[in-house]
Amino acid sequence: MLELHNVDAYYGPNHVLRDLTLEVKKGEIVTLLGANAAGKTTTMKTIFGIVRPRAGAITFEGQRIDAVSTDQIITRGLALVPEGRRVFSRMTVSENLEMGAYLATDRATTESDLERIYTLFPRLKERGKQLAGTLSGGEQQMLAMGRALMARPQLVCMDEPSMGLSPILVQTVFDTIQQIRAAGTTVFLVEQNANMALNIADRGYVLQQGRIVLSDTASNLRDNDLVRSAYLGA
Ligand code: ATP
Repeated sequence: MLELHNVDAYYGPNHVLRDLTLEVKKGEIVTLLGANAAGKTTTMKTIFGIVRPRAGAITFEGQRIDAVSTDQIITRGLALVPEGRRVFSRMTVSENLEMGAYLATDRATTESDLERIYTLFPRLKERGKQLAGTLSGGEQQMLAMGRALMARPQLVCMDEPSMGLSPILVQTVFDTIQQIRAAGTTVFLVEQNANMALNIADRGYVLQQGRIVLSDTASNLRDNDLVRSAYLGA
C-alpha cells in the first residue's frame, strides 16, 4: 500500500534519512521504532510531502507521491496524526473534527462521519462543545486521532501517539489503534514505546541515525537482542 524505496532526506546539509526502504501492506499495523533524533518524524514528514526526498521514491497504492502536494496526498487516502497532537486549541472538539472532514462535500456526510468518530470515542461526544485546548492530554490524543479518521483514510500514520500519556491512557490509545485497524484502516505507527508498539504491530522496523537497521515480524523483533537491550530495557 505504502512503499518507500531508497529514500534520502535532508534539512539543508544535514543528511537525516539514509537509503530508507520500508513498506506497509493493506490491513497491517506496522511500527517504526527509534530513539530520539533517529529520524522518525522526518520519515512522516517525507511521506506527507512536508520534507521532499532528495533521492528515492515513495508510492501509495502503486502511484508515486513524492512530488505530490500534501493536500493531494491526503485526498488519495493517507492521514496523519502528528506528533504532539496539534489540535486547534481555541476551537471546540466538534469544530476540530469538522476540520478533518477534508473530503466531505455536504453536511450530511460530515454529520455521519462525526457520528462514526463519536461511536469510536464516546468521550469526545460528551465534550463536543468544549474548547480543545482545555482537554486532557489523553483526550487531545483521541481528538487528533478522530480528526485524522474523519476523512476516512485508507492508511493512517501516527507519530508517537503515546507520548506524554499516563500508562492507563497509553493502553487506551493502543487499544484504540487496534480498533481502528479492525474497522479496516491500515496503520503506520511511529513510536519510542517499543514495548506497546510491538504488542499490537504485525511487523516493525528499527531506525538508527536515519537508517533501517532491522526489519522483521513484531514477535521476532521482541526477541531480538538489539531491540531488547536498546528499546525494551531488557
Ligand atoms: P524524536 O523521537 O525525538 O521526536 P525523531 O526520531 O522523530 O525524534 P526527527 O524529528 O525526525 O527525529 O529528527 C531527526 C534529526 O533531524 C535530528 O537530528 C533533528 O535535530 C534534525 N531535524 C529535525 N527537524 C529539523 C529541521 N527542521 N531543521 C534541521 N534539522 C532538523
